[in-house]
Amino acid sequence: MKKRGFTTSILHGDRQKPIEHGSLHKPVHTSIAYAHKTTEDITKVFQGIQAGYTYSRQINPTVTALEEKITAMESGKQSLCFASGMAAISAVMLTLLKKGDHLVSSSFLFGNTNSFFSTLENFGIEVSFVDATDAANVAAEIRENTKMVFVETIANPRTHVVDLQKVGELCRQHDLVYVVDNTMTSPFLYQPKDHGASLVINSLSKYICGHGNALGGSVTETGNFDWTSFGNIIESYRTGNPQKWGLQQVRKKGLRDQGGTLSPQAAHIIAVGSETLALRMQTASENASRLAHFFDQHELVKAVFYPGMPYHEQHSRAGELFKSYGALMSIELQDSVDCYAFLDKMELGIISTNLGDNRTLALPVAPTIYHEMGPEKRKSMGVGDGLVRLSIGIENYQDLQNDFEQALNKL
Ligand SMILES: *Cc1c(COP(=O)(O)O)cnc(C)c1O
Repeated sequence: MKKRGFTTSILHGDRQKPIEHGSLHKPVHTSIAYAHKTTEDITKVFQGIQAGYTYSRQINPTVTALEEKITAMESGKQSLCFASGMAAISAVMLTLLKKGDHLVSSSFLFGNTNSFFSTLENFGIEVSFVDATDAANVAAEIRENTKMVFVETIANPRTHVVDLQKVGELCRQHDLVYVVDNTMTSPFLYQPKDHGASLVINSLSKYICGHGNALGGSVTETGNFDWTSFGNIIESYRTGNPQKWGLQQVRKKGLRDQGGTLSPQAAHIIAVGSETLALRMQTASENASRLAHFFDQHELVKAVFYPGMPYHEQHSRAGELFKSYGALMSIELQDSVDCYAFLDKMELGIISTNLGDNRTLALPVAPTIYHEMGPEKRKSMGVGDGLVRLSIGIENYQDLQNDFEQALNKL
């Protein structure tokens, strides 16, 4: 059969296997445990000789159905879901790295990931933060004990775009696990597998769910990495298809032992939300692009950070890599203007910390999500005191422009 389009395959994915009563949606399976016909059966499932369900902390049919959808979206081999994006990231790091290993990370990172990486240092894992918009900076940090490179596609809030292709080549040359957090672009705009990613992370709480009503995270194995050369896979998981060894260890040592499990109820909400990912992403990106030009023209706006602007430092790279420039931007108002006053004057835009919702959300970055970091670290990440992050939604464009216009005019 011809390969189906992105949205078609999400919509019709569940029905590839029969569902009770001809249901169009995979049901929410709330049972924690599963009965087996014979003792022989349950032993085989435990030993991985036979497929089947054991205990919902590590496997559940509703969650499996979502994992299969995400695997299809990322054109991967297999995925695992977690209770949140952070649960997915921490499970990957804590199960594939160990004391004495070295991780190279982009310095432009989601704040909580940055905070978590400093916790890794407490466990004897070395972490170097580099400006990964230039792959040479990543190359310069590679050492004998380097095991993994971690980057995001478009980094929030300043919208830096990593040199995803060259970093991928570098990882291949040095046999490093290349982990790409695809949250900001989502698999609709970009598939990190194409540029050598070994594992792809998504916070499902953002664009994939899209409605801001369920938390979730995922890790997808792309099949690009040869795990036979990776010393940290323990003996028991060096069985079956070597392309899946990494995720096998993350499932057992991460999901099963650490327990950051996605609930079946959340999995269902996320699966339904994901059906419109492409439609939402297209509309939100178009709104963002038009608003970026509107802000750029406004005399009270000093700077606009959006990969779609021709003067953005990685504009042409973003154009080559992604289907569109995404729905996240940041702006800085003129020094004389109080950004709190601007945000308080919004009537439609919502003052909120989330992103990837259908609704447009706005947040002053330095005093909120980057507060704990302190002024020096903020400066190194390019976060000025007046930076406002805007996660653009799918409202009718003119309503958004009118709202920002009236808020600016009242200042
Ligand atoms: C939100 C986010 C995360 C964390 O996801 P949660 O589901 O909130 O835990 C990780 N990475 C990026 C890029 C994010 O935006």
